[in-house]
Amino acid sequence: MVKRENIVWHNGKVNPEQRRGLLGQKGLVVWLTGLSGSGKSTIAVEVEKRLLEEGYWVYRLDGDNVRHGLNSDLGFSDADRDENIRRIAEVSALFADAGMITLVSFISPFRKMRQFAREKAGAGHFAEVFVRADLETCARRDPKGLYEKAKNGEISDFTGISSPYEEPEDPELLLDTTRMSVDESVEHLLDYIRIVV
Ligand code: ADP
Repeated sequence: MVKRENIVWHNGKVNPEQRRGLLGQKGLVVWLTGLSGSGKSTIAVEVEKRLLEEGYWVYRLDGDNVRHGLNSDLGFSDADRDENIRRIAEVSALFADAGMITLVSFISPFRKMRQFAREKAGAGHFAEVFVRADLETCARRDPKGLYEKAKNGEISDFTGISSPYEEPEDPELLLDTTRMSVDESVEHLLDYIRIVV
């Protein structure tokens, strides 16, 4: 269990409003969730580029990339998936507190952990974006060859096949990538972010 004795919160002399004044934007966690292959990373990469070009302070946390470093000790059991998301929720909440627009693209299949991320970021600093594509479409795209492997039994605990995905019930934004092109999804998300920050 975590050791927490003798740890006292130390307040600083800088507040979020000061950072907001300096940066001209508020911190926001944009949490993209959806099946593998639904388009989260593709959309996040484009949105990051566009926001940067428009002068926003933006950073992207990608599921696969973070699993190379911070979360390299974690696998895909339910407990490890929860811990994966818990750490990302903490990190993205810190980024948002620092004033950054943080694009988070993780499958994040469990509602309770997405709710945890929302609570960590705080009201007005979190947007859940459901990147939706049905399983057949994702399996057809199969950008990383993972569905093929899962079908052949080479991957256990694969979301949508041998591990559940709990769809968002009330996301701030829904991007249905079976109906919208990448460009359309990117424009929708950009419109949303520009209004919110
Ligand atoms: P995820 O990050 O959700 O696992 P990726 O972005 O890595 O998904 O992969 C999605 C794949 O689907 C990419 O190869 C992308 O080019 C392709 N794709 C095809 N149509 C779309 C669309 N309308 N929106 C997003 N991605 C699409």
